[in-house]
Amino acid sequence: MMRWIAALSLITLAFAAAAATRNRSPDAPPAPAALFAIADRVDAAQLRATIEALVAFGTRHTLSDTQSESRGIGAARRWVQARFAAIGADCDGCLSVVTPAQTFTGARMAQPTAVVDVVAVQRGSDDPQRVIVISGHLDSRVSDVMDATSDAPGANDDASGVAAVIEAARVLSKYRFRATLVYAALSGEEQGLYGAKVLAGYARAQGWQVQADLNNDIVGNSEGQDGTRETDVVRVFSEGTRSLETLDEAKYRRYHGGEVDSPSRNVARYMAALAERYLPNFTVRMVYRTDRYGRGGDEVPFLEAGYPAVRVTEAHENYARQHQDLRSENGVRYGDTIDGVDFAYLARVTRLNAITMAQMAWAPAPPDGVDVEGALRADTTVKWNAVPGAAAYRVWWRDTTAAQWQHSRDADGKATSLVLQNVVVDDQFFGVSSVSAEGFESPVVFAGAAGRF
Ligand SMILES: [Zn+2]
Repeated sequence: MMRWIAALSLITLAFAAAAATRNRSPDAPPAPAALFAIADRVDAAQLRATIEALVAFGTRHTLSDTQSESRGIGAARRWVQARFAAIGADCDGCLSVVTPAQTFTGARMAQPTAVVDVVAVQRGSDDPQRVIVISGHLDSRVSDVMDATSDAPGANDDASGVAAVIEAARVLSKYRFRATLVYAALSGEEQGLYGAKVLAGYARAQGWQVQADLNNDIVGNSEGQDGTRETDVVRVFSEGTRSLETLDEAKYRRYHGGEVDSPSRNVARYMAALAERYLPNFTVRMVYRTDRYGRGGDEVPFLEAGYPAVRVTEAHENYARQHQDLRSENGVRYGDTIDGVDFAYLARVTRLNAITMAQMAWAPAPPDGVDVEGALRADTTVKWNAVPGAAAYRVWWRDTTAAQWQHSRDADGKATSLVLQNVVVDDQFFGVSSVSAEGFESPVVFAGAAGRF
């Protein structure tokens, strides 16, 4: 019964969204119900086609052939570039494709090697310097990280992430957003996260205010090594305290709280809340860590550059399929082949990314200057600075041990402070989001330096 009611209300919302869209100029943001339509447009067949194409390049190792048209990372890069160009041609040139590159030598790069990213930029209408990034890595590997010639299909690690990036571009390029969206296929991840360093440097050079990088790495398999199968959960990893926190900020935070409220963590909460609201039968499992234990990913160079970033990864990994030479041993098959990808699952993960990017890019920037006071008083006062484009602000609070924001109250109109009567400052954590006229909400910004975006 509840399922029917939920389904009916979804249909009603979809009709309302369609009606609202008809009555608006093409550039005006729609109502938040448009997020249902965006989720609907993500197509598992498109994701499969991308992974098939990428696997067919044999290996996409960063040190592999760059001249061949059919094998190696050069051919794979040109294929991604052509896909972005085709998607751009289908949205009246709304994407510009850039290929930031840099030459590196390192422990896993014996020869100086050009690391080339393929990046599509969908420029925002009102706030083009505010940027939301989705990333995945194009390069693949086998057991020996220096083996640049053996077949390394990398279907799940990380053609799945690149497929999510390209599908997000295909779906979101049909809409116009306030902020800029960046779709990034990175290289050099397996050799030392080089491609993310290149893109973070490019972002800095462009003066972008990166609000979030959603790094998708290993997002297409729904069955773990131990046989556990969970098709309705994805993990979102986020750091607890910001990588660039100063000693003084750390000292203040240790006393007042904020060790679980970095901007990256609040992006993870934002994704969890969006999944709950817009994706039936799909849940975010937040993990309070930058990445999996002892392992890393392309979100790290973003964090080190001072940009909020999360890692999106399937709920249960199958290690026999990662970083392995293709082989069978004692009846176990090793290797990252396409038969290990669950395309319906990958579509769900892609939907989560797409609606997160859409809501962030239609919402105003997250507020800054968020501050809280109220010691020795029965009431708590929350203050913040006005943000361009915000129609309202929402104050959020939660128990200090709660994982998700629990309570909210909207400030009057465009007021930049709110007194919460009979809410004792000692017992809660506080944050503020900004809300657009249509109702698109930014992530919650935790008070103080610990939570600043
Ligand atoms: Zn990976």
